[in-house]
Amino acid sequence: MKGLPSLSLSLNVPGFPKSNATVKAFFGYCLQEFKYALKANQVNLIETDSIEIVDVAGDFYLVPCYPGRFTLKEMKVVCEDFEQNHPLGRFIDADLNDQDGVSFSSGKSKLCFFCLERPAIECRREKAHEPEELRSFMFLKMDYYCRQQHEAAMIKKLSSFAQQAILSELSLTPKPGLVDKFSNGSHSDMNYQTFIDSTAAISPWFAELVHEGFSFNDNDLTKALPLIRNIGLRMESAMYEATQNVNTQKGIVFLMGLSLFACGRLFSQTDQFSIEEFRGIIQDICKDLVSKEMTDSLKMVKSHGEDIFDQHGFGGARAEAESGFATVFDFGLPRLAGVAKLNDEVLLQTFFAIAANNNDTNILYRSNAEVSGVFKHLCKNALADFNDQNYSAVIDFCKSENISPGGSADLLAVTIFVWSVIKANGQLGFTN
Ligand SMILES: [Zn+2]
Repeated sequence: MKGLPSLSLSLNVPGFPKSNATVKAFFGYCLQEFKYALKANQVNLIETDSIEIVDVAGDFYLVPCYPGRFTLKEMKVVCEDFEQNHPLGRFIDADLNDQDGVSFSSGKSKLCFFCLERPAIECRREKAHEPEELRSFMFLKMDYYCRQQHEAAMIKKLSSFAQQAILSELSLTPKPGLVDKFSNGSHSDMNYQTFIDSTAAISPWFAELVHEGFSFNDNDLTKALPLIRNIGLRMESAMYEATQNVNTQKGIVFLMGLSLFACGRLFSQTDQFSIEEFRGIIQDICKDLVSKEMTDSLKMVKSHGEDIFDQHGFGGARAEAESGFATVFDFGLPRLAGVAKLNDEVLLQTFFAIAANNNDTNILYRSNAEVSGVFKHLCKNALADFNDQNYSAVIDFCKSENISPGGSADLLAVTIFVWSVIKANGQLGFTN
């Protein structure tokens, strides 16, 4: 726009071509960061009149701006700070043009990004470095930067999905036997707030779990289990601290820990989420888990889950993990296929589909196989004919038997998480 200063962004790519897939991806990240830097400094960009092109000179962005209270010199400082604070700022030209389109220079010279010894302009004029050498150096750095940015973005997204899944399951009301917004279900030592506290306490570790998945580089995935458990133990400790020693979320810590790690692993190798690959990673991590950890008859102190396994032969969360989350994918996720937005009704149906097919060790721990069988039967009824009467029958039964299907609740949270990842990945016929 005539009469207004403008800001531009381009890259110093020596030789030709000036753009390729790596350069383009790097430029994309830089452009986003440049715009945030300008806006954060309250520079008024007229983005409707901006242009973004790729031509023989490479990738280029130009945006006019209202100077407002800024002098050109002050705006130039914002550009210079952006270049200086960026880890690859020497590859970047963030420039300012005055009202007449003339480049506004502060007169400072930049160091050559390759030798870091002489001004860039001298090295360029004297052709001090081989273009091919410069290019491969640059592309390597750019590629690494893009991979780091991709990981950082995926960490944020997946952590947010995990938190959303846990909170969605918790907030689903009313639920049979479980803690929800209005009832403690069959629990006397925890309520809705206890779960909010414990969710907040475990969430800071989600990022680390995804990161471990991204950086894991051993072909033997069983070696990932101690890494995941190491983080999981710290999450449990934070959980106990937040809940004054009540076990609210040990199950979901294990299952979501595996899920987040597996997603990190998967997205470190591809941009596309694949159910088969995700399940394969979980299965590989948890190979022979039940036989390795639950059939050890010499163990002195047994957990609730191990006691249940001895009595009933159901492996709980470990068996579910070893199967690559069979209940989640066979019964939970099909209920959410094609659902664009979650709501209470569809989540309750998903919950019943899971509960009707899951041998919930939380129920068995408090009762017996017969009670568990009746519970599953009632869930099946509620699912087949979803009405208030059938729904209340499940809730009343849990109340009278004082049982809580905590294992199925955890699997619902995992189902919601996987649904979010698939939806964000634009698969399975999701339209938005
Ligand atoms: Zn140089």
